[in-house]
Amino acid sequence: MQKKVIDEAKIEEAVHMILEAIGEDPEREGLQNTPKRVARMYREIFAGMNSNPREFLQVSFTEFHDELVLVKDIPLYSMCEHHLLPFYGKAHVAYIPRGGKVVGISKLTRVAEAYAMRPQLQERLTSQIADCINDSLKPFGVAVVIEAEHMCMTMRGVRKPGALTVTSAVRGIFETRPETRAEVFSLINQKI
Ligand SMILES: [Zn+2]
Repeated sequence: MQKKVIDEAKIEEAVHMILEAIGEDPEREGLQNTPKRVARMYREIFAGMNSNPREFLQVSFTEFHDELVLVKDIPLYSMCEHHLLPFYGKAHVAYIPRGGKVVGISKLTRVAEAYAMRPQLQERLTSQIADCINDSLKPFGVAVVIEAEHMCMTMRGVRKPGALTVTSAVRGIFETRPETRAEVFSLINQKI
């Protein structure tokens, strides 16, 4: 995959223009360094543009565990691509290894984070995480659930603070066997 370079100078220029466009004075003290700060921040929160999450799952190890692995409550921060406002919440990732092919728990977290650090849609983010695990580990099944609050719904538009959007993506056995899917969803919803 070709590496995309984040052009901080261009972001600075753009933020300067936005400030002018809303009638602000970009030269006043509080705003002087804002374009620079935003550019640095965008480099950080869009760092996923430069990553290939499939690489994180290249190193798997063999452990004779062909039973469900569920990682709950992975903190997730992303940017809605329609408004460039944050959406944030939790991801729950489950898979059933095939032939003992498992990965470290932290690798699953890194996959979720890397896809989140791009302009995103919650639906696509959910599917990308599921497909990445499914294609890399070829497990019996994958289930990903994301629950998130969208600032573009909270601050503007319909203004529904606290409203959670829940998305799920299931592959393999979770797609074909309703009872297996029901089991993982109930484990995700269960408060331990
Ligand atoms: Zn939005």
